[in-house]
Amino acid sequence: MRKYVIMGIQGSGKGTQAKMLAADLDLVHISVGDIFRWNVQNHTKMGAQVRRTMAAGELVGDDLAESVVRDRLTQHDWNFGFIIDGFPRDPRQAEFFLESYDIDGVIELDLPDSEVRRRVLNRRLCGDCGMDYNLIANSPKVPGRCDMCGGELITREDDTEEALAVRLRDYHDQTGPVLEIFRRKEYVYTVDARPAPEVIQQQIRERLGLPPSQPENRGSEVA
Ligand code: AMP
Repeated sequence: MRKYVIMGIQGSGKGTQAKMLAADLDLVHISVGDIFRWNVQNHTKMGAQVRRTMAAGELVGDDLAESVVRDRLTQHDWNFGFIIDGFPRDPRQAEFFLESYDIDGVIELDLPDSEVRRRVLNRRLCGDCGMDYNLIANSPKVPGRCDMCGGELITREDDTEEALAVRLRDYHDQTGPVLEIFRRKEYVYTVDARPAPEVIQQQIRERLGLPPSQPENRGSEVA
């Protein structure tokens, strides 16, 4: 059983890296942002509650974020473990998490703010299947269309200059102290998020003491 947290500023590739590791190790990938986005897209009550906050790049309230994580983890479908992405985002969430679950490691993807801006403002998402694209490094074969399902590519509502400024500020102010809490417990493995995704993945595995990944085990859905 392996339990990991992956942290990193927006656009650092945490979703991509979490999916690669999850596919290879049979972990359940839990993305709190994806859960909120699903709720917004499907017009649920929770979606209505969080939509504006998310679009502004602000953090959703701790109570709601914690209950989403608690509910997801109580499904107990993670026989081989989980990798959680986008949580904890502030010291209160970190305390909640540490009280409730023991973890094997925290992966920190390190990326300078200038590179974050470049990546985030070029990010696109398939409106149908959720696949991630980047117009610089990973553009779709047909412009504006998803390679996997042909769906229309859209810009995330929070991938704007204004929302990004809020998210960068929050990351440094609130998520920075979370890393300090984890660092005190010697959980944090920091990895440079600038190289190609496969290179980053191998570095993560090395740091976690895992054998190199077998490319054929990786899901083809990985961006
Ligand atoms: P992400 O996909 O991780 O960038 O998350 C997208 C948005 O979802 C964030 O900007 C927040 O509005 C919300 N969100 C995701 N995770 C959390 C969390 N742990 N606490 C509060 N808000 C969150």
